[in-house]
Amino acid sequence: SARRGDDPDPPALFRLEGSFAVSIPASKPLEPSPRVLLGPGPSNVPPRVLSALGMPLVGHLDPEFVGLMDEMQAMLRLVFRTENPMTLAVSGTGSAGKEAVVVNLIEPGDRMLVCVNGVFGGRMVDVAQRAGAEVSRIDRPWGEVFDPQEVEEAIQRDRPKLVGIVHAETSTGALQPVQEIARIAHEHGAMIAIDTVTSLAGVPVELDAWDIDAAYSGTQKCLSCPPGLAPVSFGPRAMQAIQARKTKVQSWYLDMTMIGRYWGSDRFYHHTAPINMTFALREALASVLEEGLDARFARHALNARALAAGLKAMGIDHVTAEGHRLPQLHCVSIPEGVDDLTVRKRLLAEWNVEIGGGLGDLKGKAWRIGLMGYGSRRESVTLVLAALETCLR
Ligand code: PLP
Repeated sequence: SARRGDDPDPPALFRLEGSFAVSIPASKPLEPSPRVLLGPGPSNVPPRVLSALGMPLVGHLDPEFVGLMDEMQAMLRLVFRTENPMTLAVSGTGSAGKEAVVVNLIEPGDRMLVCVNGVFGGRMVDVAQRAGAEVSRIDRPWGEVFDPQEVEEAIQRDRPKLVGIVHAETSTGALQPVQEIARIAHEHGAMIAIDTVTSLAGVPVELDAWDIDAAYSGTQKCLSCPPGLAPVSFGPRAMQAIQARKTKVQSWYLDMTMIGRYWGSDRFYHHTAPINMTFALREALASVLEEGLDARFARHALNARALAAGLKAMGIDHVTAEGHRLPQLHCVSIPEGVDDLTVRKRLLAEWNVEIGGGLGDLKGKAWRIGLMGYGSRRESVTLVLAALETCLR
């Protein structure tokens, strides 16, 4: 009888021929490589979060799960630093959070001003247009941030109902100060919504102190949880705007009034919450709060300084202007004569290290190195520097 290694056609659990040819060997369990995720997200997650994904299911209206939803809302309020009652995790990734904010605050014909200095501001424009908004945009070169005065001029010109801006632009590594822009928006009768997908739990996000009307985030960055839920929070002006709507929210799935009733005291069935993702986010938020937000921000800042010093010593510069750099995401120029993909492929194959390539205008010109949440550690810094140094030789 043929030895196993000689068998040209090993037994398959599942085999399909033709253009969708696939063969899944019967004896091979799924075994993803132990990657060190030092890109723009997803980031690695702590063992307690991973374990939560494998815990036994409970029903989504089980009193235990209902208690967990309440606990989750309380923890999200602490992390967003807000007392907004409408603070919860929408089912879906960060993009679902973005849509939830825009489609609930915008009715067809409403004006929205979007500040665009990277990919994710551009996406906010697209989402707002699809929701029927009359969208105006102001642009800044990638890597720069907006000056409150230019936003004020645009608000005076366009008279928007809502101003949208990305707090941490993952395509460039720029941190946008938003407090003054929020004050200006309110002075002119507009609301402000911010994208905190990359900022939340990595740098301060102060929804109440900054008077932010709506914010959304994702689980896969500095919260160190797999992708799958989108924390959102709506303040009093935003809730009033939702209550005053004349038209139905364009998306049934993301209608915050219905989702709010599911998370609220009447537990009105809307959709089945992703139970194990909720377990995982519960554990991720508990880890964040046990560490303490300020200690977590200080850890991100410390490791960022170490990484930046190492990169500088290797002659690698940041794309983003100094003073506006995110500690959790470093967008750096690829040195002259170095091929982007060759280096990233080697990092993955030889070191199991993932870093990100540039997006949009920065494709092929920049790398994005993330030190997010659980990944913001001294050993991540030394590993990525050593790996890069070897691959650049
Ligand atoms: N906004 C920002 C700033 C992001 O970085 C991302 C993802 O990288 C998103 C929105 C979209 O999040 P997701 O990919 O989880 O849908």
